[in-house]
Amino acid sequence: MEAHLTILGTGSALPTFQNSPSGQILDLCDKSFLIDCGEGVQLTMRQMNLKTSRLYSIFISHLHGDHCFGLMGLISTLDMMGRTQPLHIYAHPDLEKLMRPQMDYHLKDIRYEVVFHAINPRRKAVIFSDRTVTVETIPLKHRVPTCGFLFYEHHRRFNSLTREFYYETRKRYAYCSDTQYKESIIPQIEGVDTLFHEATYTEQDAFRCKKTMHSTARQAATIALKANAKLLIIGHYSSRVSNHSIYLQEAQEVFPNTLLGVEREIYQLP
Ligand SMILES: [Zn+2]
Repeated sequence: MEAHLTILGTGSALPTFQNSPSGQILDLCDKSFLIDCGEGVQLTMRQMNLKTSRLYSIFISHLHGDHCFGLMGLISTLDMMGRTQPLHIYAHPDLEKLMRPQMDYHLKDIRYEVVFHAINPRRKAVIFSDRTVTVETIPLKHRVPTCGFLFYEHHRRFNSLTREFYYETRKRYAYCSDTQYKESIIPQIEGVDTLFHEATYTEQDAFRCKKTMHSTARQAATIALKANAKLLIIGHYSSRVSNHSIYLQEAQEVFPNTLLGVEREIYQLP
């Protein structure tokens, strides 16, 4: 089955005219998953004519504003567009604590249910699973509790020899943002089809990168290489770097099969 990734925002904390904060949509097994929801995500979705009705659930990596400030606006718009099915949001438990009072004030009359699922970003765990897709947390290392997400497609199959059912895993997509270089994630994402890894800085800003607990493009590529990923997509660019080809060049020196994450682009996943 085909899988697509639509990148809505590739910027980091400070929005620029060039880049919006984090947000991407993974289409897997006829379901649309939104991963992170920075300010402006709903506008980009509408500009791209993406069907918001297909939105199944939302996964928030951490509670820095550039990864979640877009939620209130999106929730409100979904109501205006007539949503009736529940919306599931997977995030650190503080998100619900922070958003409930604001929702009780501004969105008390919305006509669908918003269900918060508390996740522990420090622990690797399955947080979602249905007939065809499973999602696991990938514990990352950042200034606040943060986790990435590993999505994989699985299908129930019957083995005629053993006469038993088994699950066959197909496409796997790993999202790792925000994080400093962290080799302990490699076994979990070993052989992944597509890895999205943040690359906030280039080598020139290596010192700043360490201080803010982010990764350089070269570090993202090193993780992809050591994990035997098939494809690496990078993003979460610093507002300090306007020429993104430097990121690509530095990453490709280590891992040639790297693509620059570009906003409003749709990537067909291997
Ligand atoms: Zn962050």
